[in-house]
Amino acid sequence: MRFAIDGSVSVSRRTSYDVVVIGAGIAGLYSALNLEPSLSCCIFAKETIDISNSWLAQGGIAVATAPDDDPDLHFKDTLVAGAGLCNEAAVHVLVDEGPKDIKRLIEMHVPFDLTESGELDRTREGGHHKNRILHAGGDATGRETVKTLAYIASQRSNINFRDNTFFVDVLTDAEGVCGILVKDFDGQYEIVATRHLIIATGGCGQVFKSSTNPSIATGDGLAAAIRAGANLRNMEFIQFHPTGLWSSEPESRAFLISESVRGEGGLLKNKAGNRFMLGMHELNELAPRDIVARAIYNELKSSGEDHVYIDITSKSESELQHRFPTIYNECLKRGINISKDYIPVCPVQHYLMGGIQTDLCSRTNIPGLYACGEAASTGVHGANRLASNSMLECLVFGRRAAEDINVSYQSPPTPESVCLPPLPIRRSLDIDYKSLRHRMQTIMSDNCFVIRSSEGLLYARGEMNEILSMLESGYLNSKAYDETLNLAIISLNIISSAFERKESIGAHYRID
Ligand SMILES: Cc1cc2nc3c(=O)[nH]c(=O)nc-3n(C[C@H](O)[C@H](O)[C@H](O)COP(=O)(O)OP(=O)(O)OC[C@H]3O[C@@H](n4cnc5c(N)ncnc54)[C@H](O)[C@@H]3O)c2cc1C
Repeated sequence: MRFAIDGSVSVSRRTSYDVVVIGAGIAGLYSALNLEPSLSCCIFAKETIDISNSWLAQGGIAVATAPDDDPDLHFKDTLVAGAGLCNEAAVHVLVDEGPKDIKRLIEMHVPFDLTESGELDRTREGGHHKNRILHAGGDATGRETVKTLAYIASQRSNINFRDNTFFVDVLTDAEGVCGILVKDFDGQYEIVATRHLIIATGGCGQVFKSSTNPSIATGDGLAAAIRAGANLRNMEFIQFHPTGLWSSEPESRAFLISESVRGEGGLLKNKAGNRFMLGMHELNELAPRDIVARAIYNELKSSGEDHVYIDITSKSESELQHRFPTIYNECLKRGINISKDYIPVCPVQHYLMGGIQTDLCSRTNIPGLYACGEAASTGVHGANRLASNSMLECLVFGRRAAEDINVSYQSPPTPESVCLPPLPIRRSLDIDYKSLRHRMQTIMSDNCFVIRSSEGLLYARGEMNEILSMLESGYLNSKAYDETLNLAIISLNIISSAFERKESIGAHYRID
């Protein structure tokens, strides 16, 4: 299906910008900030700026800036985590250019935490052989970075913000991108003419029942790119974070217990109080995420429990309050004092390694269409992301998208010249979207989670095909319809990619 809409839709507004960015996370904001100030730009966000994966990022940004570190060591760690499937050229770009972008963040006054002697404070996370994770606000790195970038962007006269606006589809003509279709929450449609579109819409965690991603992570940018004919790849590679905070009640977003808690000495223990990661990997609790997630999954399977624990009681209460204020307070709200109590955790969906296929300049196969951040597949992560490499990827490849646009700029077509093709009118699809989404999430979590089998994937594919056909047979001008359609498209894409990849590698594990 080329468009999410049907022929009943009429356009009530037309605008144009030199560059359109979809997404106000770190990737979208930083790419906009790297555009030539002479280019008019509009950043669209589905909700407000504080609702994104970027805002929630806790641990920090991995970058080789310490005297005893080197981009080549960062390169090696990234390749090991990626299980041989990383694009080495892209990883070189990431680790070699990353320090320059971090320098710019420091100049922009992102408040990275410092040691008592005024040096950048660096911690370690799973898969890293050096302390190279910079953090801000203790465990609020994403929020502090987004706040700084958004403030600077708001001071730029060429950058406009439109929040609470839903990006629906990419519009193309013979030359490539010619605009986008968006709508506000009254369901009023608008065509925005442009020749340069950056999709920075983040991940798709809402595909699963339990995810650290917020409600907006419904894969809208990925699905719109598919409809427009963009190539996606590696969609089977989903990172399941080993340590989401376990909750006895279903939650729309799982709270994350950052890897840096283990980096600072947190130990994984089972109900009997035994460390089960010992001997599983040379890095024990700090083994790559897929290994830890599977170890927990197997531990839970054999014990019949639904969670294991992190023990960080070796640290004092004041140390934990200072280093992990967000985690300390959230746990305390739930009656867990992490300086005295073990933290109950279980694996949850966390990050999409695959996405819209891009080259080293963040270009897709459609002229004028760029992707960066979690929505993109630059090839940096391979089969598994090294912890805290994603915010660095947002910065490096967000900047590269902007730099490419700066040198290849074309003026937008006139808004009146950008039209929707005639489309059929489909039946009205006024169904219970909440329960349909729950059914889809259950299919994905039961069959496409940490451990997968051909039998489960075939079943999931059949079910999801049926759901997608039903959704495509009708239409409703509502956010519920748009998001559910996009989730079904992305779910099917993940299932099919997981089915096609027969071998277990990185985060993709086939029991058969
Ligand atoms: C809890 C948590 C902790 C994390 N910790 C770390 C960490 O310590 N280090 C690290 O490197 N990474 C971490 N990550 C991953 C990292 O935060 C993300 O991969 C990265 O921030 C993604 O940034 P982004 O700009 O690509 O997308 P996001 O920050 O998710 O932004 C997406 C934007 O797209 C907009 N959007 C989406 N759909 C639409 C639509 N249809 N119309 C209009 N706008 C739309 C949203 O409104 C939002 O503004 C963490 C992720 C989570 C969830």
